[in-house]
Amino acid sequence: MGYIAVDLDGTLALYDVWKGMEHIGEPVQPMLERVRKWIGEGKKVKIFTARASMPGHEKPIQEWLKKHGIGGLEITNVKDFEMEELWDDRAMQVVCNQGISLDEQYRELLDEIQETHLRQQVELRNDIVNAFRGIKQAVKLELERE
Ligand SMILES: [Mg+2]
Repeated sequence: MGYIAVDLDGTLALYDVWKGMEHIGEPVQPMLERVRKWIGEGKKVKIFTARASMPGHEKPIQEWLKKHGIGGLEITNVKDFEMEELWDDRAMQVVCNQGISLDEQYRELLDEIQETHLRQQVELRNDIVNAFRGIKQAVKLELERE
C-alpha cells in the first residue's frame, strides 16, 4: 500500500529555529486536520523527517503525535517506492522529465494567458474602430445621396 509522507518541522509542526530533539512546535492546524482526514479515509501516512537520522528521535515524536491525536504513525527519513506524495516545506516540485519547477511552469502559463488576453483586447479594439469607420463611411455615403 502506498503512503503519503509528511515532513514534521515547518510542515506539520510550527518551526522557527532548532531547539533540540525534545522540542517540537505546536501543530500547523490545517496540516494536522489534513493528516487526520487522510487517516480517517484509510490512507497510510508516514512522518518523513530528518530527525529520524538522529538517535532518540522516536519517543518525542511519538509523544507529540499521540498528544495531537495521530499517534502510532511510522517515522522515517527513507524514501522508497511506496511513497506516493511528499509534503514538505523545503520541497520544490519539478515537472516530470522537464527539468523545470511546477512554479516555473505555472508562471509560463500565466504569461501565455496574459499575452493571449492582451492580444485579444487589441484585436477587439481594432474591430470596434473598424466597425465605427464602416458606419461613418455608410452615413457619409447616405448624406451624399440626399
Ligand atoms: Mg521541514
